Amino acid sequence: MSRDTIAQINLAALSHNLKRVRELAAGSRVMAVVKADAYGHGLVRVARALTAADMFAVATLEEALTLRRAGLAHPILMLEGFHGRDQLPAIQQHGLEVVVHSETQLRALEQEPQLQIRRAWLKLDSGMHRLGFPTEQAAQQHARLCRLKGIQEVALMSHFACADEIDHPLNQLQIQRFDAAVAGLAGVQSFANSAALVNFPEARRDWVRSGLMLYGVSPFTDRTAADLGLRPVMTLGTRILAVHQVEAGESIGYGAAFRCPEAMPVGIAAIGYGDGYPRHANNGTPVLVNGQRAHLVGRVSMDMLAIDLRGLAPVQVGDPVCLWGEGLPLETVAPHADAIPYQLLCGITNRVEIRIAAETVAARQRVTQNDPLSAESAK
Ligand SMILES: *Cc1c(COP(=O)(O)O)cnc(C)c1O
Repeated sequence: MSRDTIAQINLAALSHNLKRVRELAAGSRVMAVVKADAYGHGLVRVARALTAADMFAVATLEEALTLRRAGLAHPILMLEGFHGRDQLPAIQQHGLEVVVHSETQLRALEQEPQLQIRRAWLKLDSGMHRLGFPTEQAAQQHARLCRLKGIQEVALMSHFACADEIDHPLNQLQIQRFDAAVAGLAGVQSFANSAALVNFPEARRDWVRSGLMLYGVSPFTDRTAADLGLRPVMTLGTRILAVHQVEAGESIGYGAAFRCPEAMPVGIAAIGYGDGYPRHANNGTPVLVNGQRAHLVGRVSMDMLAIDLRGLAPVQVGDPVCLWGEGLPLETVAPHADAIPYQLLCGITNRVEIRIAAETVAARQRVTQNDPLSAESAK
């Protein structure tokens, strides 16, 4: 028997969520954000399940090329643009779209005016102060991009800092600054991530950029994915390795961080921080054992964690444990680990077996190995 520590990926949920994002962002086109290995779900398998998306967005050239090698011909946007001039030939060759956020990037483009680029997205900093030109420079930098004959289209974008907090005053300020900056400038616009496309209909514009909601997770603390009509894509599970009856006053796990207030049954599950389960998940973090709600006790170890089995129907070695996903929304687990859902999804390690519908894949990278075009590039 294997350890059975498995991240089950529900591809049908992905396409359901894309439909739901389209409904929520009615009238806008949808850019499916698949950076960071599709938030830990596997870049190529996710993109193939989301071929109905209008476009993909990635963080790195490597991610974009992986999509092209997998045969995906969609428009692809590099959200940070190019990371060096040496990337420009590949960007041209593969018809990639780039964010242009800095003087360094803009100057590099001006020095290669023959370069053909499908679309350049002028990124404006409307208040997040991470990437982008100051909004006061919008017209000037837009004009510089428009002068470059190799750039077929110039688009406009910005990014919210507090989109999940509907009442945060920065949101309206960002919208005002962006609108003032782009008034009269030609080009399609993109502003909203998942949280913003729900909270700020006026910011949906031509293109929404959705990541988290496609994976069936709510970006909000007060609304679950189910409230938004979304279905979880990843269900992380394992099995019970051992069941103990522990005496009152005895402690459990490293640091003796939990002491039993009474004699109690404790289950040991085969998952830990070596699998990407958060070490900081506190006593009380919810899990499901045989579909029944239970919670962690003691510290998470590298390969295992302990569960309070009091009040549950008898639990046996081999019984299934769900850490998040179907029946246990990740957004309700993450706060117990002082984490956000994004972080937990991206943190799943290669030791976790990925299982998709009927098919079993030993590890995430196997998808790449099984892909003849990727194998070719690995030579
Ligand atoms: C990651 C990212 C997104 C997607 O955000 P979600 O909250 O996952 O929808 C959108 N835009 C930019 C610029 C990003 O970096």
